[in-house]
Parts: sequence; structure tokens; C-alpha cells
Amino acid sequence: MMRIGIAIVGLGKIARDQHVPALAADHSFELIATASPHSRLETLAGYDDIQGMFRALPQISAVALCTPPQVRFETARYALEHGRHVLLEKPPGMTVSQVVQLVQLATQKNAALFASWHSRYARGVEPARTWLHGCTIRSVKVDWKEDVRVWHPGQTWIWKAGGLGVFDPGINALSILTRIIPHGLSLKGAELSFPCNCETPIAAQLLLASGAGAPVHMELDFLHPGAPKWDIDVETDAGRLSLTMGGSVMTVDGQLVDTPQSMEYPSLYAHFAHLVRSRSIDVDLAPFQLVADSFLAARRTEVDAFIER
Ligand code: NAP
Repeated sequence: MMRIGIAIVGLGKIARDQHVPALAADHSFELIATASPHSRLETLAGYDDIQGMFRALPQISAVALCTPPQVRFETARYALEHGRHVLLEKPPGMTVSQVVQLVQLATQKNAALFASWHSRYARGVEPARTWLHGCTIRSVKVDWKEDVRVWHPGQTWIWKAGGLGVFDPGINALSILTRIIPHGLSLKGAELSFPCNCETPIAAQLLLASGAGAPVHMELDFLHPGAPKWDIDVETDAGRLSLTMGGSVMTVDGQLVDTPQSMEYPSLYAHFAHLVRSRSIDVDLAPFQLVADSFLAARRTEVDAFIER
């Protein structure tokens, strides 16, 4: 089968750490070029923007958009209008309504559109979903805490409106929760802490409810010292299920559960290849809607200025 010619737009940390190696190992795609204002890969054609790239290389049939979220919509719209298939890094846009428009445009153009949630491909997530199916959930506790200075050095876009602040990692927890908890989630209340020099929050506490009414407490912290904590604990009538290390390790009542090997970005590209070949759309807005709800419903507090050092 012919390989799908693909380009990466936005050659930053996640593009270099995950997208480039995943594409190099994937037999469905051929990485042809990149478009990024300043960055280039030594071995590949590089362009300043998507417009120049499409003019020079009309054979590109798909793009992976790894820019900051604030510029994702215009780039995605341009790509879809020009008949290309689109993979959106998370979050899929800056606002929910932008992503709804992209779905309409992809439908009109008969193009594939994938709002990717890489954490859903962590190896414990599908086994946890299966295990929880049919359980009565009593409560859920989520801790998603890391040191922004270690994990996102110099990424000033995170602190600008639309950059999500602590929800940039926190949306990964929501992408897992919305996959594993049966019958959906709704937001009941939130408290967001904004540094006095930033437009986005540095910490958040959320109270959600599962479809059956079980409380879900979530704590997000972007100034957590030392090792990150990316943990979800679900108390059920059949015991306590825990996902740790961002969804990659699953235990039940403290006992490790053997889960099948799964690599997040290779799995994500395998799914995108399927979407491109079938010209399908996979856009689940649930994690993004819960973030939007948090900004709508939150009590806000102002905290000390964030200084990166
Ligand atoms: P980053 O390191 O700041 O990289 C973003 C890149 O986007 C920059 O290198 C910049 O390119 C490029 N860019 C900015 N405006 C652009 C435009 N108009 N057109 C094309 N490229 C543009 O950020 P990142 O950590 O890679 O994150 C990018 C996205 O991936 C975010 O939505 C984030 O949530 C998501 N993500 C990040 C991680 C992670 O661990 N970092 C994990 C999963 C998902 P130049 O260098 O050329 O200026």
C-alpha cells in the first residue's frame, strides 16, 4: 500500500520527542517535510509556514499539528480547506467552537480529522476501562502534579490566554477519566489559582460527578517539586483500581495487573492511518469541554507571580 505523505507543523518539544520517531518507525506514513517559523530538522525539507510548504510540496496529503493551541485552528482550517487530512495534538484547539467548525469542514471536504489524546494510549487505560465496566464506582481521586519548570521550560505560550496553564497536563488526566469512567462526567465546581503575572492557572481543584453520581476529586498543581505525580484512584464495589505514571501502570487493591505492551505515539499514528484510509473523523470533545466548564464555573484566586528562574 502507498505510504501517506505527511508533514509536521510546529517543530517543538513534542514533535521532536515523539512525532518524528513514531513516524520514522511507521510503515503507513512517510514524513516529507516540516513547517515551523524557526526550527528545522537537518535531514528534511523545512518551511516557515504551512502555505509555503503546500506550494512547494503538493504531494503532502496529511499534517500533524504540533503548534501551541493558540494557532492550531487557523492552520487546521487551511489544511482542511486544501483537502489535507489533519491530526490535532491535544488540546484540539483554543476553544470548543473552533473544533466544532473543524469537524464540519472535515465532513464537507471528506477529509480525516483526528483530535488525538495521547494519554488514552497509555498501557493501563484500556484494561482499566474494561475492568471498570459493570462496577459500581464509589469515588475517584485524581492527582496530576508536576514541576512546570522541569517539564515545560521556556514555553511562554502556556501562560498566555488559550495556553491552558496547569490544564495543559491536566487535560491528559481528563482524557483518561472520560475514557475509563462509564456513563460520562459532569463538572460541579472548580477553584483555579492564577499567578498575578499570568493569564492561565497554575493550580486547580475540581469536583466532578460520574454519571451515576459518584464524586470525583481532582487536584492539579504545576509547582509540584520532585518526581511528578500522575495518578488516578477509583474506589469501587469490587476494590480499588489505580492507574499511576500517567496511565501506564495499573493495580487493583495494590496488586500489579499485567497489561499488554502499548506505546502512546505509535498507537496514535496507527489509528490516524486507519482514519486517513477510511476518510473518517475521530473527535471526542469530552476532555476539552470539562476544561472549558472549569473556566466557566470556577472561583478564582490570585497567587504569587510565576517566575521561571
Ligand atoms: P513547544 O516546545 O513550545 O513547541 C511548539 C512549536 O510550535 C515551537 O517550536 C514553534 O516553532 C512552533 N510554532 C509556533 N507557532 C507556530 C505557527 N504559527 N506555525 C507553525 N509552528 C508554530 O511546545 P510542545 O511542548 O511541543 O507542545 C506543543 C503542543 O503539543 C501543545 O499543544 C502541547 O499541549 C502538546 N503536547 C506537548 C507535550 C509535551 O510533553 N511537551 C506532550 C503532549 C502534547 P519554532 O521553534 O519554529 O518557533
